[in-house]
Amino acid sequence: MTQNSKLRTPIPYGRQHITEADIAAVVETLQSDFLTQGPKVAEFEQSFARYVGAKYAVAVSNGTAALHLCTMALGVNETSRVITTPITFVASANCVRYCGGTVEFADIDPATALIDIDKVRQMLESKPKGYYAGIIPVDFAGNPVNLEALRQLADEHGLWIIEDACHAPGGYFTDSHGEKQLCGNGRYADLAIFSFHPVKHIATGEGGMVTTNDEELYRKLLLYRTHGITREADLLEENHGGWYMEMQALGYNYRIPDMLCALGLSQLSRADEGLARRREIAQVYDAAFAGFQGIDRLVTTPEALAAGTGHAYHLYVVQVADRKGLYDYLREHNIFAQVHYIPAHTMPYYRNLGYKKGDFPEAEHYYDRCLSLPMYPTLTEEEQQFVIEKVKEFVANGR
Ligand SMILES: *Cc1c(COP(=O)(O)O)cnc(C)c1O
Repeated sequence: MTQNSKLRTPIPYGRQHITEADIAAVVETLQSDFLTQGPKVAEFEQSFARYVGAKYAVAVSNGTAALHLCTMALGVNETSRVITTPITFVASANCVRYCGGTVEFADIDPATALIDIDKVRQMLESKPKGYYAGIIPVDFAGNPVNLEALRQLADEHGLWIIEDACHAPGGYFTDSHGEKQLCGNGRYADLAIFSFHPVKHIATGEGGMVTTNDEELYRKLLLYRTHGITREADLLEENHGGWYMEMQALGYNYRIPDMLCALGLSQLSRADEGLARRREIAQVYDAAFAGFQGIDRLVTTPEALAAGTGHAYHLYVVQVADRKGLYDYLREHNIFAQVHYIPAHTMPYYRNLGYKKGDFPEAEHYYDRCLSLPMYPTLTEEEQQFVIEKVKEFVANGR
């Protein structure tokens, strides 16, 4: 290929994969009696819970709604201070604000871009017990956070944990007992959340899931998902007859339609296949960029990851000095790489709450250099080689 060659179709950083089977599953639901709140919701929940190894799952309208239900169920209010990472999609922090709580960021570990557990420890140890209410770690890029270490800290300081596992369905880490812990399995976190936005591993358009092993939290999620209304006989304060229901708390309509759950179920049945393909793509990038001057990467290889880690490869991030130059150069060649993420604390909204540039230098340094390359199961070998060629070309020569 020549220097200025283009592949004809644009290559995005992530995209959904819809098969004939997916379409058939949706059509079947469209022809059934239920567009929403039919049998597919519970089926999707049960299958998903099984997939991640959790006891309960609650399907919701999107990942942000999932986060909001979690902060509600955990009783976040104006007095709550909650720790999260600045390198995440802003929804991980916003869910605290929805309940009136205060977001406290902890800087990242530059090797992984995950929340730095030592920094979290320092924050916790510098305050009296009870100062912080909880922590929302993110399995950034698909690299699972060490929830066992966070759980220990959380127990010492009386915190709850919401695992934002949007990037990591199928990912896992291995704990100190040698046990494989799937992301979202609820072993160390109180609650975990997933998103089914088209760029995520499992796509329903809009959609999300909360998983947990805690029955009490599970009941609250169900209640808040649908207006705070229940019809369950054993939960009612009164009972006037078959029509009777009670609104027991101020909830929302965060339900997901049956047809999207049918799509989610169909997608879920191919999740392992997609994950295997993502792993292959990561290995090809790893090999292509290993030792290449001017390209740094987050840890992705089995040798560099914590022992016993199953990375879910949602994102493949490179770090370069001239990130804007590389971004623009790739776009000229129809490659739509993306930046994940602009640090949340530098957003005008959070700046207005008192944060400023310079507060979290590792996150800001990471942001200055990061770029997520195309990573999705249907990326072809030819497309990936083209991406690699263009990245190397730019880094080696500039434009
Ligand atoms: C996608 C995503 C969300 C939000 O999910 P939506 O379904 O888009 O609301 C939250 N956190 C992270 C880390 C995400 O990647």
